[in-house]
Amino acid sequence: MELPKQGIPKDELLAEMKARKAQDDDWRAGKTWSLIYPAGPEVDSLLAEANQLYLYENALNPFRFPSLRQMEVDVVAMTAGLLHAPQAAGGCMTSGGTESIIMAVKAARNRAREERGVTEPQLLAPVTAHPAFAKAAEYLGLELVQVPIDGDFRADPEAAAALVGDRTALVVGSAPNYPFGVVDPIPELAALAAERGISFHTDSCLGSFLLPFLERLGEPVPPFDFRVPGVTTMSADVHKYGYCTKGASTVIHRDERHLKQYQLFFYDRWPGGLYASFAMAGARPAAPIAAAWAVMRFLGEEGYLKLARRVRDTSRALREGIDAIDGLHVWGKPVMSVMSFGSEKYDIMAIGDVMDDHGWQLDRQHGPDALHFMVSPEHAEVAEAFLGDLREAVDQHGESRGKDARYS
Ligand SMILES: *Cc1c(COP(=O)(O)O)cnc(C)c1O
Repeated sequence: MELPKQGIPKDELLAEMKARKAQDDDWRAGKTWSLIYPAGPEVDSLLAEANQLYLYENALNPFRFPSLRQMEVDVVAMTAGLLHAPQAAGGCMTSGGTESIIMAVKAARNRAREERGVTEPQLLAPVTAHPAFAKAAEYLGLELVQVPIDGDFRADPEAAAALVGDRTALVVGSAPNYPFGVVDPIPELAALAAERGISFHTDSCLGSFLLPFLERLGEPVPPFDFRVPGVTTMSADVHKYGYCTKGASTVIHRDERHLKQYQLFFYDRWPGGLYASFAMAGARPAAPIAAAWAVMRFLGEEGYLKLARRVRDTSRALREGIDAIDGLHVWGKPVMSVMSFGSEKYDIMAIGDVMDDHGWQLDRQHGPDALHFMVSPEHAEVAEAFLGDLREAVDQHGESRGKDARYS
């Protein structure tokens, strides 16, 4: 495409955009299982208005737009409260979980260099950790060392103990991890780090806005947050179960004055004045900060609890429904709303293909072979239909291919 010689009228453009958009996944039908976290029409309209209100501002300079600065402080404080961060904690908003993780790795790397003289840093993360850690390691010059998992798909702390060493700059655990929805043994892993003055990051990008509410609903939630000694940073995505539009995450340090300072980039050797930044980005969109602030205050504890109950009930129904289908099972013991399922009897990928034909968008995983999904509040409406189609897909497949099934 070339830049048009003359501008195109708005109506024409919008019509073209709508036509193109019609070819994308129709997530409003509830058949998309990750990426989108819809929380109903009231939240949708609030998000649209909050975004609109801050469409043009720039969050780079906190002194020009003090209202934005305060909203960022408020979002961090509300999130830190959910995660039981101590009074001395501090943090920032970022564009997403990946940026939060990159900033946590950067802070840990600089801390290890400064306090322990580590010049060839390593990052110790379970094999199930999000690719954002591998990305951060590549960008920031750390060697990624992978910790193996046990039969329940949780990081093996004994294996981690054998791998931690003088070069380790950061140890990581997930709460929960993306592939299986299980929580790593955070207390054991964090203790390994703390004993040696090493930073520890809990990646609760997915869990931060759901696990605290499941705990309040009386569900068994393994320890994962700042109540665990040795946890130095956490990442928490408001644009996942915080139900914000995209571009909103937080990174929180246990100690603002000590640990958070390693996240800061500061520069004054140019004619343009002092330049200080806690983020990867320079110019930063203001709308995600405003939207995060608005949705958290709009829902409040009561709103999040109500949505958490819905997500829990739907997740439970799906998990029990899948386990009840002969030949299928959910892998591990997922703690919330993210899980994957496989089969010892059937080719699970072929079953995934049949589900595709019915319009269900399930992600594929390997090692072990599995179909993966993530439940949002709106899935309550489609859980039964999903299980019905899944039973049918297994029946069809079982008749035609059951005899030479591939074992995973
Ligand atoms: C989504 C996710 C991330 C990365 O977040 P983005 O917002 O996609 O950059 C990191 N860790 C886990 C466990 C996640 O689910």
